[in-house]
Parts: sequence; structure tokens; C-alpha cells
Amino acid sequence: MKALSATTHYFKQAVKILGLNEKLERSLLIPFREIKVECTIPADDGSIHSFVGFRVQHDNARGPMKGGIRYHPQVDPDEVNALAQLMTWKTAIVNLPYGGAKGGIGCDPNKLSASELERLTRVFTQKIHDLIGAHVDVPAPDMGTNPQTMAWILDEYSKFHGYSPAVVTGKPVDLGGSVGREAATGRGVVYATEALLKDFGKHIADQTFVIQGFGNVGSWTARLLCEKGGKVLVVSDATGAVQNPCGIDVPGLIRHHQNTGGVKGFSGCIDTDPNSVLSEPCDVLIPAAIGGVLTRENAHDVRAKFVVEAANHPTDPDADEILAKRNIIVLPDVYANAGGVTVSYFEWVQNIQGFMWEKHKVSTTLETYMTNAYKDLKEVCKSKNCSYRMGAFCLGIDRVARATVLRGWGA
Ligand code: GLU
Repeated sequence: MKALSATTHYFKQAVKILGLNEKLERSLLIPFREIKVECTIPADDGSIHSFVGFRVQHDNARGPMKGGIRYHPQVDPDEVNALAQLMTWKTAIVNLPYGGAKGGIGCDPNKLSASELERLTRVFTQKIHDLIGAHVDVPAPDMGTNPQTMAWILDEYSKFHGYSPAVVTGKPVDLGGSVGREAATGRGVVYATEALLKDFGKHIADQTFVIQGFGNVGSWTARLLCEKGGKVLVVSDATGAVQNPCGIDVPGLIRHHQNTGGVKGFSGCIDTDPNSVLSEPCDVLIPAAIGGVLTRENAHDVRAKFVVEAANHPTDPDADEILAKRNIIVLPDVYANAGGVTVSYFEWVQNIQGFMWEKHKVSTTLETYMTNAYKDLKEVCKSKNCSYRMGAFCLGIDRVARATVLRGWGA
């Protein structure tokens, strides 16, 4: 199912549970603004290449719009729209004073040189600089982008508006980025997993994990789970998958990944089939790569007790239903991976105050936000007698709806 149809499906279910009226439903669903721009750059060999860039600003009832910028060949308006909507509910679920947005450029960052990526990022920023800003819309990294990308956006934006570090988050620490931002999404996934397991009388140290994806989110999640005594049995990425029934040496795998560019061929493990990673037996399955990976076709094969969605929209609604029928607990993306945007918020606060935090303060405050959000989520699930996914959508949508009505925009 297309990403936007899936997100809208969950949205409509939650709206029904909340009993919101049709006008409010429509106003919450329609994006505030959709931007589509042509980004033409000369390649290193002098030839001219055109790319299409998007920024969807979904909702600003609760504050400036917030969300990442993705560089990926699959970026299209449907997906960016869905991801922008998810950001609106996500920031509300963790109670940040933000709305939601998402951007992207349809390109393969692995096939572009650093200077081509810089030119592309600067052209994209030139096209959208008037529509973003510290109190309007604050981009951040997502798949295929990183702190260097944010540094280029900050620099280009500053040429038009003066130096304004709070216009982007996920910046390098030398430019006002927050310590702990790079690890934040993975760290948040681990705090969310801990809160979930605790509720079921379990601990990370007595659980086994399978992780799909070893980019920023997957690798930090694996590393922090391992530090807490969790046994990571299988890890996959675009190059392949590796397995060790006694638990993977994650720091060793990270070094191998840095040296070779992938997980494949790590000497501490045996190589296994990356296509069967979602059906490997384990306690907790963590999809931490692209969207739409759990489908009607493979949801019956999942052999985990819990699925923690570190990726954005990894589970199709059909798969969600199948997993629910099989009593597999799914902790949804809009809560589970909110650690990244939460530390983005801390970074923004630090930039505005001109006062930088210690790493310990970042981690402990993130833990408080994730634990409090889990409590709020659990309460909604109990009172509405619904799944974690529906509870999360209800919690987020209800908060945004209340802000909308208070501001006089709701019917
Ligand atoms: N791209 C991340 C997400 O999907 C972080 C967004 C942000 O920090 O604004 O949540």
C-alpha cells in the first residue's frame, strides 16, 4: 500500500475513535503547504543534472513545523506527504511544541560526490529559504542526509537571513549541534523498548533482537541494546545480513561496517539471507530501514513477540492487522522513533538560549520524555481499549485537534 494511503487509513480510524467532526478531520488531514522545486546542478564532469525537491509542511497548530530531509531514489510526493503527517502526530505524542513537516530530494546520494551533494543542497536551500526558519519550519537529517548536509543548509540560509543556527537541527556540534543528537533516534528506540518490556515484566538483558537496517538508527540501536546486555542475533543492511546465535559483537560489526561500507562478511558472524531477516526467530524485531517492509505477504512469517518500529511506516495496515491477530505487539514508529526529533528539540532550545547542555543532561532528559510519552500512550490505550498504534495516533491527533480548536481554526 502507498505510504499516504496507509497513514491516512490509521488517521481516519483514530478520528473515528476520538469522535472528531468532519470539518476538523479535513483540516487536520490537508497539508498546510506543499512545496515542489526543480534543483538543477552541474555534475563534476560539467554535465547538467536536474532533481526534484519537496518540502511538505503538514501542520503548525502546536508550533513551528519540524521534520527531516531525505535524499533517496524513492522520494516522491506521496511518501513525503505521509512522512510529514507522521511528524505532526509524532511531535504531539512526545509533547514537543512543534508541528510536522518533511522534505526530500529524489536522488541516490551514494552516486553523487561530496561536491555534487553540496551544490544540490545549496540549490534546494535557495529555493525554499523563504519558507523555512527557526520559528516557521526547522529541517533535520533523515535517510541519506547527515550533519554535513545541515551545515550546508545553515550556511546557505544564513546568506539570505543572517546567521541563524536554530533554522536546522542535527548540525555538527561545532556549529551549534547538540551532543547526543547522532545517537538520539537509536537511544530513543532503546528507551521505548525498555518501557514496553518493563510493562510486560521483561528486561533488555534477557531478550533477543533482530535488526533490519544498520544506518544511523539501526547501528545506534544495536550498540545501545548490546550495552544494556541485550543479545542481537541478526543484523541486515543493503549489502547483506549477518547472524550469530550467541549474540553479535556489535562494536566489532560497527568497525567492520566503517571499513567495508556494509555488514556483509563480518568475521564474527555467519552471512545469512537478508530476505529472511524479518522472519528470524527472536523476542524483539526492529525494522530500522525503509518503509513498507512488513506486508500482507510476510506478516504471517514474523517469529517475534514484539515489533518495535525504528523506521518510519515499516508496517502496512494489512500486516498490522495480521500481527495483531497473531498477538504480536507492535510499538509504532510515531512513538518508538521519536527520540531523534526530541533531541532536535533540545538542540533548538539550546540554540535559542545560547546555552549548550552536557551529554548526560541530553540523555536523561530524553529518557524522561520517552518514559512520560509511554505513560500517556498506555493511558490512551487503556481508556480507548486499542492497540499501541491506535493509542499513539489518538494521543497525537487529539493534542493537535485541541490546539487547532483553541486557535480558532477548528470547526
Ligand atoms: N528525521 C527524523 C524523524 O523522522 C528526525 C526529524 C527531526 O529531528 O526533525 O523523526
